[in-house]
Amino acid sequence: MARDKELILVVDDSPTNLAILNVVLREAYQVIAANNGADALSLAASEEPDLIILDIMMPGMDGYEICDRLKANPFTRDIPVMFVTAMDQERQEAKGLALGAVDYIAKPVSPPIVLARVRNQLELKRQRDYLRRLSAIDGLTGIANRRAFEEDFDREWRRAMRLKNSIALFLTDIDHFKTYNDAYGYLAGDDCLRILGQAMTKAILRPGDLLARYSGEEFVGLMPDTDATGAAIVGERLLNAVRALSLPHAHSGVAPIVTVSIGAATCRPSVQMDRASLFKLAGDALYAAKKGGRNQLRIFEMPEAANAI
Ligand code: GH3
Ligand code: MG
Ligand code: MG
Repeated sequence: MARDKELILVVDDSPTNLAILNVVLREAYQVIAANNGADALSLAASEEPDLIILDIMMPGMDGYEICDRLKANPFTRDIPVMFVTAMDQERQEAKGLALGAVDYIAKPVSPPIVLARVRNQLELKRQRDYLRRLSAIDGLTGIANRRAFEEDFDREWRRAMRLKNSIALFLTDIDHFKTYNDAYGYLAGDDCLRILGQAMTKAILRPGDLLARYSGEEFVGLMPDTDATGAAIVGERLLNAVRALSLPHAHSGVAPIVTVSIGAATCRPSVQMDRASLFKLAGDALYAAKKGGRNQLRIFEMPEAANAI
């Protein structure tokens, strides 16, 4: 998430300690605070801070338990955690590190040391994020790759289940792309993939949406909080974005230009369903769009009854 300043969540039951850390950090960073475990966990999930600084000794849920829970939750497990503790003994440090903490700060805190250690950890996180982004990009088209899609699909599926929202999945396949390659050459085919990938990415307007190259000449789109009515709008927009490019395809048989067929599936995820069934339904819709003459969109809705087995 792009921010002006990196966001740090400080968790400590002592208002004095919170105030001290706030003073030390606030100049360079944006700081939010929690004084108990429950608030810390919910702030970590909703605000996705870049770093969490955790006090170990707290009434109720202690720092170890908070850390353990952060690491068990896929939404928060990649956020680096630093412990602040008066107990600077090796045994406690080892325990924290085994739970996945990245570093320790000893109390009483020394501002220059805190700042230096925080800076180090944020730099490491920046590098990790950069590598993760890089490994999520398709080399040919520059858009998201299948790996990024799989991660997103997993996350959005669970989010939709939690919020009881609809989710829409699009499978897009270029029509008669084999004859395109045969007629214009494989390199021109590659250019075509690049141009289509970029154009369809632009056609998807909401920030939570994702378009990825799934394989070969197939693209996959994921739209959270989208029902069949919304999917129809987005699907038509995708079809039109490709048509508007007017890339000549003399041997298509469907149109004189490059076109795509789109299969979309929507559902309201529930625990009785798995996301593979939504993918399968989108595949069926794509097959129907191909059979129906290509250059068109088909949308299949997962029946609500399938939610309530
Ligand atoms: P349909 O309308 O039924 O989808 O016909 P099609 O010819 O597009 O379908 P088919 O699956 O038979 O062919 C897909 C073609 O996509 C075959 C392959 O040469 C081409 N292709 C797959 N990946 C790439 C790629 O990375 N670059 C290029 N240039 N072509 C690719
Ligand atoms: Mg294909
Ligand atoms: Mg094809």
